[in-house]
This record gives sequence, structure tokens and C-alpha cells, in this order.
Amino acid sequence: VAGLGAQRGSKKDVLLGGLLLPGFDERSCASRYQSAYYRKNMTRSPAPYLIKRLREQGALQRRCGPGSEPYTRASERLRSGQKRVDTVDGCGYLVLLSYRGLGNRILAVASAFLYAILTDRVLLVDREKTLGDLFCEPFPGTTWLLPLDFPLEGYEDLGESAAESYANVTLHNNTGPASEHRFVYLHLDHGATPANRLVYCDDHRQFLHRVQWVVLRTDSYIAPSLFLNPVYQDELDRLFPRKDSVFYIISRYLLHPTNDVWGMVTRFYNSYLGSADETLGIQVRAFDDDTPPQNILDQILACTSQEHLLPGVIAGGPPPPPKTGSRARSKAVLMTGLNGWYHDSIREMYWQSPSANGEVVSVHQPSHEEYQLTGVATHDMKALAEMYLLSMTDKIITSGWSTFGYVGSALGGLTPYLMMRPVHLKVPDLRCKRAMSMEPCAHGPAYFECTRKEYNRVFHTDNMVPHVQACEDMGWGLKLT
Ligand code: GDP
Repeated sequence: VAGLGAQRGSKKDVLLGGLLLPGFDERSCASRYQSAYYRKNMTRSPAPYLIKRLREQGALQRRCGPGSEPYTRASERLRSGQKRVDTVDGCGYLVLLSYRGLGNRILAVASAFLYAILTDRVLLVDREKTLGDLFCEPFPGTTWLLPLDFPLEGYEDLGESAAESYANVTLHNNTGPASEHRFVYLHLDHGATPANRLVYCDDHRQFLHRVQWVVLRTDSYIAPSLFLNPVYQDELDRLFPRKDSVFYIISRYLLHPTNDVWGMVTRFYNSYLGSADETLGIQVRAFDDDTPPQNILDQILACTSQEHLLPGVIAGGPPPPPKTGSRARSKAVLMTGLNGWYHDSIREMYWQSPSANGEVVSVHQPSHEEYQLTGVATHDMKALAEMYLLSMTDKIITSGWSTFGYVGSALGGLTPYLMMRPVHLKVPDLRCKRAMSMEPCAHGPAYFECTRKEYNRVFHTDNMVPHVQACEDMGWGLKLT
């Protein structure tokens, strides 16, 4: 980043406009206060009302979270199935089961946190195999990790046919005052049945608020669908006067890589990116059998040329004359992908021929893991480090449909150039397109109007409210703008 050295010397707003609290132990989680020094200033500021609600959420997490008396009582009630007594403690819980790749899981965590705020619930995240290796605790004085002795047997296997699923409970009219639920299970997979997606229209006051334990399973960014629910609109307007940066602001508050991951981020940054005049991130996610790699390479280069992100090369051109005095402008390209071939090809291109404008282009890729190995700690740590590195670049190209790319750009407040996904092995004519906003795309949103709840009729929900639009890279996805 140009001028980063100077920025390091100057005083940075490490608390990000009041988003973060002072007083956390800096050594146990260096990224929390250091990240401001590696990034551009916040491109969006948090609203004062959001900050107030975040403090209240932190207090709720401490008062009701693991280790507290209310938590002990609530988990005992869950274990025994004893009927819920409404007035006790005022503590409700949202247990998140996130799954699939790390991009999916991060989108799930950030948007579940928003849902927890909207519904006044304590967020507890299932640690999966690696979550605790990846992120620091976001709330002071408590933990957001689901305790290992969480008493709901078989909760990891809950699926949409479960008797406790929202669809089963609501469609069978089991929500009446007499029924008290041990828990309710919300299944919001991107491919969930329409009936389970009805929860997007739930107003939480009808019966869910009486349910102390809610278990949510999602692989998706559910925030855009929450914005379609009329019940949440006023509150969301106050929390986010601008709708184009919901993930960005939440992630800056909630997600802080652990020291091991942060070390990987900063070492790579300092070695390969920090001193360049400009940086470009290119995230390549080739889905199985999409198209031959050469087509994707051509797509990347067509995009960098179309958008003037990288200089062309002069085949057979002479070496540049030695520059005396002024140094040639340097551009560092950070590439990420499971495969190293794209990086090797682009690097070789700038090795074999001079760049057309004299810029010195260097190309770097931290890893090429070849296969997705979700749940293996070092693999997930590399993936997270690479998402953070992408977020520190000046401009970014990402692969359409990829949640990895969504997170890489949204974490940095970067509006990406999205490469359209190949269709029937062919790269679309439109090679890439500047996104409308930095927000991630929701792949399985609500498809109905909440006022009508006609969940069996597909309804185009984009444009229903002005700031929720169809995604550029997936026509049926929704994103905030
Ligand atoms: P998506 O499948 O593109 O939506 O992204 P996900 O992050 O949900 O799942 C892909 C997973 O594959 C990642 O979490 C990583 O485990 C792995 N992966 C994909 N691309 C990369 C990459 O560029 N770098 C690394 N280190 N891992 C990757």
C-alpha cells in the first residue's frame, strides 16, 4: 500500500471509530489493534447506534455466556428437556453450526452475529475443528465458542427434516402458547427448502422469543434476507444507515485472526507487498470442470487489460534502460488459488518480456494447496491468512460465485472486479465486471414477500427494497448495495 510506511509512523485510529474496545490483552491477539496499521483507513464508519448495540451485545454475552449462572441453568434446561419458564434470566441463545469451506463459514458467522443482535440472543459458535485456531475471542470477559460439554446430543447432525426444524414446527402449528420448545432448529443452507426459508420472514415475536435455544445451520450470508423482513427494517436502518458495508463493519468488530494466522499475514505482507507502490489482488477459484485452465488465464488477462489493472507486455521488447535517479513504479500482484499454474504463468509473462509502461510487476502467491482440506488446521489457517492478504491490496479481482473471494474483498472494504463464472465450459463474453458494492452475495436468499409468505411461489425479491439487488455473478443471489 502506497505510503504505508508513513502511516505506520503516524498515529492510527486502532479502535476504528469506536468499533473496538480498548483494554484487551494486546499480546494474546495482536491483530486486534495492529490491523489498522496494515490497512487503509476505514472506508465506512460505524454508526453511533451500532456501537451502542455492540456494547449491549457484549454485555449480554458476558452476563449469559458460558461460565455464567444463567448459562448453567439454561444448558441444564436444554439437557433435561424441562419446560422453559419465561421469566428466568432473560437469556436466549443462538448456536451457530457453520460449515463447508472457510469463506462460507465466515459469511455464516458474521451474518449470524447480526441475527443475534436483532433477536437479543447470545451467539455461540460451534468451534468445528478449527474456529478456535483461526479467530480470537471477540467479546471481552467471556467466550463465544460453544462449550465442549454442550448438552444437546447429536446437534451436529441436525438437518432440515428434524422435528424441531422451523418448517416442521410452524407448518404443523406447533407454535401455540402451550407448546414450549426445548429448542428450534433453523436450517438456512443455500439450498434449504422454501418452507425452512420462511424463517427469513419470522418476526421473532410470535413464538421464537419464547424459545430459549435456537440452533442455526447455515453456509451462507443471510444478512440480505434479513433486510427484506419488514420487522427488522427500522432497526437495521439505525444500525446501518449505509447498507453497502454491513459485512465490512461487522467483520472489523468481530473477526480478529489469532497470532499464528496474523504472523503469516504480516510476514508475507512485509516480505512481498508492503514496499510496492501499488498492489493488486487476484483470487482464482476454478470450480471442478468449469473450463480448461488456459481459458481462465485468458479471462484474468482480459480483465486486467479491460480494467487497466495490469500493464501488457511487449513481446521481444528490449530490456529497459538502467534508470538513474527515479525508481520505476512497482506493482505487486498477490495471487491466491488452490493451484499455482496461474501465478506461474503470469509471473513468467513479466519475466520473459518487459511491461509496456515500464512498471516493475512482481507476482506472488503464498500457497497452492491443490485440494480443499477444510478442517485441517494449517490448511484453514493458510486460507484465512490469504483472505486477509487479499483484503490489504489496493484493488482486487475475484472469481464469481466464490465465498472465499467475497470475504477477501469485503474484509478490506474493496469493491471487486468479479470474473463471471464459465457456463458450459465457456467463459462468458463479459470477462469481468466491477461489483456494485463490497458486500458478499447471498446464494440462497428468501424468495418470497414476507407480507404474503407464499413460499411455494418463487418471487423475485431483488428491488423489493432499494438496497437489496440481484448479484452481478449469480442472478438469483441477493446482495446489499
Ligand atoms: P468457495 O468454495 O470459493 O465459496 O470458498 P470457501 O472458502 O467456502 O471454500 C473453499 C476452500 O478451498 C477454502 O476455504 C480453502 O480451504 C480452499 N481454498 C480455495 N481457494 C483457496 C486459496 O486461494 N488459497 C487457499 N489457501 N485455500 C483455498
